[in-house]
Amino acid sequence: MERTHLSPTQQRYDSSQMRWATFALLLGAHLLPAAGLRAGAARIEITPLGPIWMSGYASRNHASIDVRQPLWARALVIDDDVRTVIVTTDLIGLPTEVADRVAARARQQFGIERARLLLNSSHTHTGPLVWPGLAVMFALPPGEETVLRNYASRLADDLVTVIGKAIGDLAPARLSYGVGNASFAVNRREPTATGIKIGVNPWGPTDHQVPVIQVATPEGRIRAVLFAYACHNTTLNGDFYEITGDYAGFAESKLETDYPGAIAMFLALCGGDQNPNPRGTIELAERHGAELAAETHRILASPMRPLNGPVRAAYLITSLPFAPRARAVYEADLLNQKSSAPIKRRAQLMLDHPISTTPYPAQAIRFGRDLTLLALGGEVVVDYDLRAQREYAGEPLIVAAYSNSVMCYIPSERVLREGGYEAVDNLVYYGQPGPFAPGVEDRVFNAIHQVMQKVGRSAPP
Ligand SMILES: [Zn+2]
Repeated sequence: MERTHLSPTQQRYDSSQMRWATFALLLGAHLLPAAGLRAGAARIEITPLGPIWMSGYASRNHASIDVRQPLWARALVIDDDVRTVIVTTDLIGLPTEVADRVAARARQQFGIERARLLLNSSHTHTGPLVWPGLAVMFALPPGEETVLRNYASRLADDLVTVIGKAIGDLAPARLSYGVGNASFAVNRREPTATGIKIGVNPWGPTDHQVPVIQVATPEGRIRAVLFAYACHNTTLNGDFYEITGDYAGFAESKLETDYPGAIAMFLALCGGDQNPNPRGTIELAERHGAELAAETHRILASPMRPLNGPVRAAYLITSLPFAPRARAVYEADLLNQKSSAPIKRRAQLMLDHPISTTPYPAQAIRFGRDLTLLALGGEVVVDYDLRAQREYAGEPLIVAAYSNSVMCYIPSERVLREGGYEAVDNLVYYGQPGPFAPGVEDRVFNAIHQVMQKVGRSAPP
């Protein structure tokens, strides 16, 4: 949505702003100085209230046993005449069902347009299952589904609440941008004699950049920090049954301690095929978190690029087709003694509710001519980030994934051809029909080009 003057949202102006806006209109819009931005930030705890089934690893066979670190949802609201909201969550990912409920209520209660609401998840693997996302992964014990449904319902309430709290915190703000580097992400698609396995591939593509957005008072006191990285929150393995936000949670917690009163929010980028390295212990999760926090500190202490309005936003849902599969494939999966339990559950799901495509959200939020934040749904592999950075070189770009809804992995054409977990196996756990049809990368880029065009960034020739 383009910002337009005399829009209904101007009714929210307080009287002094309205007088200024009228004066500016008399002067002529082209003489308008960069409008001062206002911003507000807040957090709300979303730690499950008791033992709960944890997500991310198919090997999980009982509920959580303790809370090592609380989980949070955080919201940043930026107001330049309309409001734009970024919500981050220390969670595996929001299924469409939860995201849609939050978006509908944010529109109803606060007038937030869908294009101006970005819902991102850190993809921690030591948090709760967010119902119904990844439910096919597990055989849940009796009663657990009710616990999970109640958690998802309370979560939707909490996400709406934290948006309201952030709106209540709106005050004049200076936003700025910088970028650093952290090296613990490694490409995890390891080629072996029997195909691509999840391991360590030091030769595979990565993006080690750490983009940072600072929100400060006009006097320079830090009120909020958004920092981002392209890497799974999987330092901890499936044998760890305490709730944590993994490395991102430790980085957020460190930054919020170092800047008392400030909100520190982690935005997950295109780390679909990236793992922390090394991994496997809570000490390593803390170490990676400390590295990310230290790098964020360094950027905040360096000269940063001011971010100006107008804040433009665009949102689009496209449709991604899966490769066609006959019912007979799922019937055979059900009968095959060698089929795993998740394969059988996926087969039954597809026989009961056949689908051939998934809706796919793409979103762009652009600050003046200073920075564009592109936000993609699903577990996007790093190839998308690298291609988008190439295509839109010339103005800073952050390419987030795990945004607005997480329905499965989004492989590039290369990854789809090569196969492996990000191309094939994950679709079982996500309850999707099977691998995407060839052409998925260009379909996603078609959506990217459209939302980028709508915020004023033209597609490459
Ligand atoms: Zn993942």
